[in-house]
Amino acid sequence: MDTVSLPNLYVLIALAVVGPFIGSFFNVLIYRLPRGEEVVVRKSHCPKCEATIRWFDNIPIVSFIALRGKCRDCGSPISLRYPVIELATAVLFVITFHLASQAGYVLYPALLVVGCAAVLFLVLVIDIETYLIPDQLIWWGLLLSILLLIIGGSPSGGWGSAIIGFFALSLLLIIIGAIANAVVFPETFRKDRGFLVIFPWLWYITTYIIAYPIEHFRGLNRASPDEVLDAESATAEKSAMGGGDIKLAMVMGLFLGWKLLIAAFAFAILTGGLVAVVMLIVKRTSGQYKKGLKLQFGPFLSLGCYAAVFLGDSFIAWYLAITGLSRQL
Ligand SMILES: [Zn+2]
Repeated sequence: MDTVSLPNLYVLIALAVVGPFIGSFFNVLIYRLPRGEEVVVRKSHCPKCEATIRWFDNIPIVSFIALRGKCRDCGSPISLRYPVIELATAVLFVITFHLASQAGYVLYPALLVVGCAAVLFLVLVIDIETYLIPDQLIWWGLLLSILLLIIGGSPSGGWGSAIIGFFALSLLLIIIGAIANAVVFPETFRKDRGFLVIFPWLWYITTYIIAYPIEHFRGLNRASPDEVLDAESATAEKSAMGGGDIKLAMVMGLFLGWKLLIAAFAFAILTGGLVAVVMLIVKRTSGQYKKGLKLQFGPFLSLGCYAAVFLGDSFIAWYLAITGLSRQL
């Protein structure tokens, strides 16, 4: 086993203790962010009997076990997802900080990487459940990525790579999205005048960056299924790739830089493709193919981003070696 230095051990213990409480807050975010509800800290209630939950019944993980998963007042079952998210958050924090210190990140950059992992985790869970990536998560991701660039120690290596990354994949996704929409939803595509959607790309990103803070401070929180195409036709139901994926790609580029971003995207496409094939086979054999397949891309981008931080460089080196490209460079 790797040796863990003493200051790092203290941070790991702190993360393990604080993690479940932050996870408890994540349970609130996972519910409220995609619904556009204000995130305010208020006393927790039982969703069934509305009884206020006592502080000693609200301790992450511990209370769930003590109450045997039932409300103290009405006895209705508490969803297992609450303790699962609480535990998962703590585990994610500890593992991420450990991996980051092993990879040579010093304290503050390592903690910011933990923060980014938390954003990716929320994107993963919320996108799987709701097909939405809330704008708030995109903005927290941007903020953390910029902080990493300012204090030094960003996975991107520096501003140049980060800024190229910010634009690179987001543009590619808009083009892929337009083509995918043309193939999967030809009527929507025709109504949206096809490739015309690519040209407002820069306009789209600029207005998003300017409009979001204004709307936010006016209290107009919103989640964004898709705003690249017009709002009427391009709901999450009818388009192959949503605006949320494109914004996530912007943040990932700023966080990872263009090189690691390529590794992350390769990972997302490979795993996403694999899962899609498995799901298609399952649907075919079980005769549920009529409705087609609707698979979010955001969770795979999130996983790819996380993998790229720690494995991206080895992946790139391996790829260059097996293709013989490293000899030519
Ligand atoms: Zn109750």
